[in-house]
Amino acid sequence: MTIQWYPGHMAKARREVTEKLKLIDIVYELVDARIPVSSRNPMIDEIISNKPRIVILNKADMADEKVTKKWLQYFHEQGLQAVAIDSQKGIGLDRIMDLSKERLHDLFSKMQAKGIKPRAIRALIVGIPNVGKSTLINRLAKRNIAKTGDRPGITKAQSWIKVGKELELLDTPGILWPKFEDEEVGLKLAATGAIKDEILNLQDVAVFALRYLIQHYPERLKSRYQFESFSDHVVEIFDHIGKKRGCLMSGGLIDYDKTAELIIRDLRTMKLGRISFEEPDGKE
Ligand code: GDP
Repeated sequence: MTIQWYPGHMAKARREVTEKLKLIDIVYELVDARIPVSSRNPMIDEIISNKPRIVILNKADMADEKVTKKWLQYFHEQGLQAVAIDSQKGIGLDRIMDLSKERLHDLFSKMQAKGIKPRAIRALIVGIPNVGKSTLINRLAKRNIAKTGDRPGITKAQSWIKVGKELELLDTPGILWPKFEDEEVGLKLAATGAIKDEILNLQDVAVFALRYLIQHYPERLKSRYQFESFSDHVVEIFDHIGKKRGCLMSGGLIDYDKTAELIIRDLRTMKLGRISFEEPDGKE
């Protein structure tokens, strides 16, 4: 489900998250491991402010492992704890608990010293749409609670999900808006499926992805589409893929929309392997 974000929705989403922050000890900021910066809300630091936070790089199963390691290091250097997980399969979830305890150790010790009875850690998941918030909640809860594709602005009574004895999670995540201003961010969000295909031109997204792949993953492209070498012209690359895969219109002309769709489908279904679309030290 796509959310059209207008200023009113953003203000409301922000207000809702701010309200929820009062109830919790720690924020789990979910991002897409393939684009950990582009998939962050642009105002996240301001919204979360000084609340303890863990950055969770979700969909790590689809990202390039080497690049994910660099991102974990990057966040660490920013003074943020970070962990890479796969919510669909439930890989890496234990680490979230370990990091939460580590991060809150001092706070909880102080509470105990004041005579406050030890209690479970209370957490809230926040992130832009499609980053996997509902999937993670369901995984942690070990049952189907969060409806995937929840919308902001639909408030319901808050309730807690118990995750073992030591963690309680708010059952509705904080849904925040993605970055809009930067065209390249938009293309990355589209390439990874974070925004609906109707919003951006599919050919633009495919061209962006191809250019990135030529630069960073040329061997994957070569083997998938049987290239011997690449032309400098993206149109010729499109032609080659379209011809190879039979994306043709009547008269034998290349159907560029169909070719673009095929490339994007291949990407999203991991036919091109695990790919990250941004690196901490890269310009992209
Ligand atoms: P939300 O909008 O943030 O709640 O996102 P959802 O939980 O609805 O997830 C969006 C899509 O991403 C769904 O198709 C999920 O199955 C998929 N997804 C979520 N987490 C993962 C993950 O760790 N790995 C993979 N491969 N897919 C995931």
